[in-house]
Amino acid sequence: MKSYINELCAQKDEGYFKNQFRYNNNCKLLAVKCVKQTNCHLEPLLPLMEAFRQMVNDSIRFGLKKNVSTMKQLSQLAYRQLANYDMMSYYKLCAISHAAGILANRKKSLQRGHKLRQPYARQPLLISCYGFKVVDGILKVPVGDGQYFDIPLNNYVRAVLSNPSLNVRSFTLTANNSVSICYMKEPTQIECTNIDGIDRNLNNVTIGNIERIVQYDLSKAVTITENTRSIIKSFKRNDIRVRKNLYSKYGKRRKNRINQLLHHVSKAVVQHGKENRSAIAFEDIRHIRKLYQHGNHQGRVYRGRLNSWSFAEIKKQIEYKAKWEGLPIIQLSVKDTRNTSKLCPRCGKKITQVDRKTRQLWCDQCKRWMDRDIVAAMNLSNRGRSWFERSQGFAKETMKGNMEKEPLILRVDAGKLTFRLRSKQNLSTK
Ligand SMILES: [Zn+2]
Repeated sequence: MKSYINELCAQKDEGYFKNQFRYNNNCKLLAVKCVKQTNCHLEPLLPLMEAFRQMVNDSIRFGLKKNVSTMKQLSQLAYRQLANYDMMSYYKLCAISHAAGILANRKKSLQRGHKLRQPYARQPLLISCYGFKVVDGILKVPVGDGQYFDIPLNNYVRAVLSNPSLNVRSFTLTANNSVSICYMKEPTQIECTNIDGIDRNLNNVTIGNIERIVQYDLSKAVTITENTRSIIKSFKRNDIRVRKNLYSKYGKRRKNRINQLLHHVSKAVVQHGKENRSAIAFEDIRHIRKLYQHGNHQGRVYRGRLNSWSFAEIKKQIEYKAKWEGLPIIQLSVKDTRNTSKLCPRCGKKITQVDRKTRQLWCDQCKRWMDRDIVAAMNLSNRGRSWFERSQGFAKETMKGNMEKEPLILRVDAGKLTFRLRSKQNLSTK
């Protein structure tokens, strides 16, 4: 049993979470993805799922009582307490692991100053990274005494898992009859010679560097949001139960439609980066919502439109897709992001926006008009390059003329950087 705990802890250290990747103990780079299948017949497993849910809730309770949120401490604390459940021991460990994840997320949210209720698993579920098999397109879920429950997988899932370089790691079953299978691979790192800056806007996503720019249109996402808002507004019945159902239905529809749109764009962005062998540099716009709060002398409609902008979702999608392909991601700091759409990417002088209604900027030195979004993407690319050179210890001016010697960009770890920046930012906001 101890070996199970140690292995689970080791997996946590490896970063064994959905869409995450880090170095594991052997310094391998691992990328994780998952594939989902709905409409499976999981009714016979419901008692097992319900017991799993109760074990998760028990573990959360123990963790909260002793103020513990790491996998190792929680398993030492809660494993004996779960002895009265008639389940296989690896399900117990996976329940503890799931609870540890929930507690760690809670801790993070508390550190950010969010108000939280006590976490609680409401839906029956079953997660395991042990004892299961995928044989001939069938997922075999262990149910005890050497018995398995067979779940036939559909053609899409079979096709995804048929790739021999993939390693199937875990499964998740939920009460709404869906199965998620988590798989992993070690991506081959792309040796990049360029850095593309990416500027996320309400109506478009602009990516590129000083030599080449691509713009992806996202105005359809704005239209979808506006349509949804007008549909919801047209319901007049003042009943909280009906209103809740309707809002949830149309909110889900909006989310699905916009995410689908963003998936197309993020796929194209990663493909573009892969073809041109360029790393992607992201700006830090974490606190942008503060600009559009009540009391900032802006209209309700304007604030609503800008707050519906899903800038974090597209970043999340690009990040995990890039990691899967082995494309490096650079996360710039707030300081590096400052004034990216106010300085000329060619001469570095301040550029002015003559007319507030258009997004055109005029540079007095270069005597030319430039688009605000393109300027931002070019500046981000330049700053990404200087960030990279700084991190490699050879600092120099990153103007256009200084780029003869192009460095290789390998394994840029954005995770560590975001952590460092967060601690800095906490200090400044307090
Ligand atoms: Zn200029």
